[in-house]
Amino acid sequence: MVQTDIGKDIAKARALLEHRLLVAIPTETVYGLAANALDEDAVLQIFEVKNRPRFDPLIVHGADRERLSEYVTSFPEWAQTLADRFWPGPLTLVLPKREIIPDIVTSGMDTVAVRVPLSPLTHELLTQLDFPLAAPSANPFGFVSPTTAQHVQDQLGGKIPYILDGGECEVGLESTIVAEENGKLHVLRLGGIAVEEIESIIGPVKIGGASEGHSPGSLLQHYATRTPLKLGPIDITQHDLSSTGILSYQTRYPGIPPEHQVVLSTSGDLRKASKYLFAAMRYLDSLNLKVILAEEFPETGLGRAINDRLRRAAA
Ligand code: AMP
Ligand code: MG
Repeated sequence: MVQTDIGKDIAKARALLEHRLLVAIPTETVYGLAANALDEDAVLQIFEVKNRPRFDPLIVHGADRERLSEYVTSFPEWAQTLADRFWPGPLTLVLPKREIIPDIVTSGMDTVAVRVPLSPLTHELLTQLDFPLAAPSANPFGFVSPTTAQHVQDQLGGKIPYILDGGECEVGLESTIVAEENGKLHVLRLGGIAVEEIESIIGPVKIGGASEGHSPGSLLQHYATRTPLKLGPIDITQHDLSSTGILSYQTRYPGIPPEHQVVLSTSGDLRKASKYLFAAMRYLDSLNLKVILAEEFPETGLGRAINDRLRRAAA
């Protein structure tokens, strides 16, 4: 056990990372569990602390496109166009990697996923470091991602020395991942930037990888609450109301105790719903109910990414 401190001390975060230790960092998507991406031993600790399978590759975070360009062999036009529009922001690009990125980061693949996060503290940290940070979400593998420093403390406290506290994550969903496969652009993971936004810049994209199946991050069960979560139209007559939780978009359900219900946005704002989705799942899970009933969201914009997370949580 180590003592886990929470604070805003960039110099401390930097010193720990330079000593090959792990630090949880804020980003606009979710909190990340970061290590020097160029240091195989440091990155190995991420997999150990998270209990993450080695076949699931990590995203490499840099302060800007120029720095990330040092780790890829090419930065094709489609990627530059998207980077110009969405970086810093919740977009990850999969590009051909240079030798300097260790295999542990990419699960042995010849591509690397790169991103410039939008978070003042983390941006300053990345600017000061002379290496990029490999960082998956700062939670045990398979569980709900953290969107506050306290969420990280709850799950990884005692396992890492420091959590850099940047407050609540503004987007609250993981990044959208785009890759070129067999000459076509694919969205490998739905996330904080809507597919429609990406298509408005570079034209039609395919959803999902060309070689579905072993594609990492596409594991069906993920983001899981301990309480069983059921997704679909809510029929409260089928359940014992005192032990049922509700996660809804806009509607409050009479008959269910108000403290067992989270309405993500009464006004129907998908951005707001995304921001608080994971916190709501954690809260309802903490009530130790028999079941959490979740509504399906509109299958448009960020609603698609929300449904993706809920489907995996329900799987
Ligand atoms: P996480 O860090 O938990 O948000 O997950 C990172 C995800 O990025 C992985 O689960 C993969 O789906 C994806 N990813 C990372 N590197 C690559 C890569 N080289 N090719 C395709 N997908 C990748
Ligand atoms: Mg994750």
